[in-house]
Amino acid sequence: MPTMTKPGATPAPHAGDAFLSVRDLYVHFATEDGTVKAVDGLSFDLARGRTLGIVGESGSGKSVTNLAVLGLHDPRHTTIRGEILLDGQELTGAPERTLERLRGNTMAMIFQDSLTALSPYHTIGRQIAEPFRKHTGASRREARQRAAEMLEKVGIPNARLRVDDYPHQFSGGMRQRAMIAMSLICNPDLLIADEPTTALDVTVQAQILDLLKDLQQEYGSAIILITHDLGVVANTADDLLVMYAGRAVERGTVREVLRDPQHPYTWGLLASMPRLTSAVDRPLTPIPGTPPSLLDPPGGCPFHPRCAHTAVAGEDRCAEERPLLPRGRGAACHLSAESRQALRRTT
Ligand code: SF4
Repeated sequence: MPTMTKPGATPAPHAGDAFLSVRDLYVHFATEDGTVKAVDGLSFDLARGRTLGIVGESGSGKSVTNLAVLGLHDPRHTTIRGEILLDGQELTGAPERTLERLRGNTMAMIFQDSLTALSPYHTIGRQIAEPFRKHTGASRREARQRAAEMLEKVGIPNARLRVDDYPHQFSGGMRQRAMIAMSLICNPDLLIADEPTTALDVTVQAQILDLLKDLQQEYGSAIILITHDLGVVANTADDLLVMYAGRAVERGTVREVLRDPQHPYTWGLLASMPRLTSAVDRPLTPIPGTPPSLLDPPGGCPFHPRCAHTAVAGEDRCAEERPLLPRGRGAACHLSAESRQALRRTT
């Protein structure tokens, strides 16, 4: 199916070109207790038509990064440095007017909690139609018609009638579909989905992820899928970025990272998730310890207080020297390739 292009949109870059390019991004919050370094020197690229999964525990900087892309941080308490280029346009420091024009039109977000994100006082149809009216100037009647079409597209039965329902009349899965309809109504080029299936049961979760993939094929959007669950990205994303303490610690294609994970933190994430191929009684191994305080993150490798392999890589080196993430496939870790292989066999 051909990729839909918005009237007046700039032509797509050559295949493989980054549509979104984040370079050396820092997002720091001023709090009463000090500066929270929520994102600390992050870089990644995303091309049109591809899905980037960003995984990590709570507080790893996944959502903060994406709110920075959307320009949704309060500038009074937030310092943002670095580059966020969307189709060549710099978003860091862009005027609110510019960001508002881009939000909901060129870039859109699917939030985790549809019950909170949707207003209980307005019909589903009115809420879906709102961004369409705002960005296209369509009449109320045209926008309602378009909202019904979008509800149909995301698989809501009797969409033309249900467009006048209120959120409480929809099930959790239907509300999440309605949120997807709302985020796609202007055919965004960049879609950010923040834990879009967390509150849903496994069957509905799989349906929603399939729906996102289908719609991406139709619209050619670039998607960022934020999750703490590697299982969610396994079947949905093309590329993977593993984040810890505000930094990227591993990246590669999903296949590369899941087949040959290179960072001890990624090993921990994988060991803590259930697998279909494992015995039912296989115990899950949580990562020991807790994520560090971002008010005072550890020096050197931020994972070193929780890492079981510092003796192999060198205690002092892990505690003092920040490991760098190579460009392309790789992990930010001082372990040699041989040590990693040997350790992988025993973990
Ligand atoms: Fe562990 Fe050291 Fe590698 Fe960090 S650099 S993940 S502490 S081995």
